[in-house]
Amino acid sequence: MPGLDKLLRGVLKYRATLRPKMVKDFQRIRDNPEPKAVMVSCIDSRIIMTRLLQSSVGDMLLVRNAGNVVPHSDTLRENGVSTEAAALELGCVVNNIRHVVVCGHSDCKAMTGLFAMRDTVEETGGSPLTQWVKTHGLATVRKYRELEAAGGVGPITFEAESTNRRFTAFIDKENQFAPVDKFSQVNTLQQLENIVSHEFIQERVVSDKVRLSAMWFDIYTGDFYMFSRERETFVEVTNSNYAHLVADAECW
Ligand SMILES: [Zn+2]
Repeated sequence: MPGLDKLLRGVLKYRATLRPKMVKDFQRIRDNPEPKAVMVSCIDSRIIMTRLLQSSVGDMLLVRNAGNVVPHSDTLRENGVSTEAAALELGCVVNNIRHVVVCGHSDCKAMTGLFAMRDTVEETGGSPLTQWVKTHGLATVRKYRELEAAGGVGPITFEAESTNRRFTAFIDKENQFAPVDKFSQVNTLQQLENIVSHEFIQERVVSDKVRLSAMWFDIYTGDFYMFSRERETFVEVTNSNYAHLVADAECW
């Protein structure tokens, strides 16, 4: 069956090129890994996060699912455990990682599906993918309704681990993105609220051991954005914005 040969040719190319250096890197960090972030991204085949972020061996723990969502702790009370919560524990508790970053993207098929079902999202049932996005995207749909009620730009407010840390967001003030991409940006920010619903993360954010950030990738321009709490919007990651974004990530 065609397709697997592409993967195997990749292994052969890896063996001939990257393998010696990577094995040395694996050995170097074996007893002292210091990953810098837990990254939550979409399973979309275009989101090659390690390449986009120019990551090296040991840099981050990567969690991927349809729609880059982190199930709210309330949904786990009904549905049991989640790999996302387990990954947060592995990263932030076991490995003492300080940064959790959620990265959404444009033209997201999971978000497109959820966006199309947004008027019936409270109804249960459907395919596995439908149930996944409906169950864990319900809060996103509700937040998007708030955005529409606020004129489509905002402000909308996201709850944090404490009332004095909740943050406000304006979405796409320049009106350059399609509605479903605005929806995807709302979804990305909603995940920060979902992450702090987990008590063990909430405790670490309150005590400044963990910080949460949201990024968004525009596939067809190749631009990365990061949410700035100070500017209350997604800001393009450029040389001129770099210092602001680093400082902003540390200030809350
Ligand atoms: Zn996606």
